[in-house]
Amino acid sequence: MKDDIYLTASQFDAELERCLNCPTKPCLKACPVSCSPCDFIAHAKQKNISEAAKIIAAQNPLGETCGLICPNKFCVRACLRQYKDSPIRIPAVQAEIMRRARLQKLFFPLPIVSLNNKKIAIIGAGPAALGAISVLIRQGFSVTIFEKEASVGGALNLIPQARLPHEIIAYEWQKFLSHPAVSLQTKTEVTDWSVLLKQEFDAVIVTSGEQKSRTLGIEGENLALNYAQYLKNPQNFATDKSVAVIGGGEVAADCALTAATFGAKQVEMFVRRRLSDMRVTEQERESLLKNRVNITALTRITKIEKQSDTLTLYTCKTQFNEEGRLIDVPHSEIVRKGFSHVILALGSTRDRELVEIERIFYAGDFATGSSTAVEAIASGKQVADEIIQSLSDAR
Ligand SMILES: Cc1cc2nc3c(=O)[nH]c(=O)nc-3n(C[C@H](O)[C@H](O)[C@H](O)COP(=O)(O)OP(=O)(O)OC[C@H]3O[C@@H](n4cnc5c(N)ncnc54)[C@H](O)[C@@H]3O)c2cc1C
Repeated sequence: MKDDIYLTASQFDAELERCLNCPTKPCLKACPVSCSPCDFIAHAKQKNISEAAKIIAAQNPLGETCGLICPNKFCVRACLRQYKDSPIRIPAVQAEIMRRARLQKLFFPLPIVSLNNKKIAIIGAGPAALGAISVLIRQGFSVTIFEKEASVGGALNLIPQARLPHEIIAYEWQKFLSHPAVSLQTKTEVTDWSVLLKQEFDAVIVTSGEQKSRTLGIEGENLALNYAQYLKNPQNFATDKSVAVIGGGEVAADCALTAATFGAKQVEMFVRRRLSDMRVTEQERESLLKNRVNITALTRITKIEKQSDTLTLYTCKTQFNEEGRLIDVPHSEIVRKGFSHVILALGSTRDRELVEIERIFYAGDFATGSSTAVEAIASGKQVADEIIQSLSDAR
């Protein structure tokens, strides 16, 4: 496993020392799952990794995963240390605590409580599902997860291993999957949710994420790969030639960096808006630069064409007009030849409407639109609380 995604021992100690231990705990208030950085940092400072990890595990079933991939917009943005010099790298500290706990084989077993004879079906095995499970099993519910893929983890499995080693996802799920109240059916796609209510289940939680990739609606689009197809098995598309990525967000950046890692001689991102409009973190921007990914901004793709064994992109320049709308620049067409692969990374949406049906609940990206792992977990936990409430009201 790559170690350079974790803090070194001296970086870890330095970050712990920098914590001001604010009595108002703004970092806790900013965390979607109410994890308390100032408390876990205080224990880590006392060299008590076990207690620190226990605090994280009690609130976040994906503590190490979130430590590795949480964006800086939650606890880090709230950290008061930023007004002195720079905020504490809280997610990285969290990841290191959970890594040490894992390596020391510290295990925080889930409680095994007597069953309340209520059965919940969960569709999808991503972070939102795990958030719901972590609450439900503590209250005596049995949970059956139906997952269409062969493994658990959801969209996290599309995050490049260089950012999130996938064995961490499997490790964090394992303790839930081995709990006697949890069962999992993989390779099982559920399209009719209501039928589950007619079977043995008291409620259904749909956490099926966003399965429909956004498209451009242009000629030749079928020649491109979509980001999910690509990121699922990037090794199948390894090339030492040129790769084009269409899109300017974090998923596009992951595609571009993956193509570079898998040997592409040149990777070029085509972005419709300005460089400054790209929805990427500072870290991703740095990685794109470091990996010499070219970014062609203010450019719209109008057509994709196959010419012998490579793909050609027809492009035109864009600009903002006086009303701030993005428009094509007249006569600015440029033909770009010679790409081995074109990857569409424009984001995704849910694949069906959210209909209000009694005892069917929705959580995670399916309910809220694209979010983050920690928000999806929080959403799953919240829906589990709603279910506990509504099923106890119905008694
Ligand atoms: C490339 C990429 C990079 C990302 N980077 C980050 C990041 O750095 N930090 C961060 O916090 N978040 C990141 N995210 C976002 C994060 O992964 C999602 O917000 C989170 O996974 C959403 O969780 P979820 O449980 O709602 O849905 P998902 O994780 O999408 O899980 C849904 C699950 O439902 C299954 N499913 C769908 N339909 C059915 C059906 N009909 N029957 C059975 N199963 C079904 C799917 O196979 C999937 O396993 C990234 C996402 C992607 C794609």
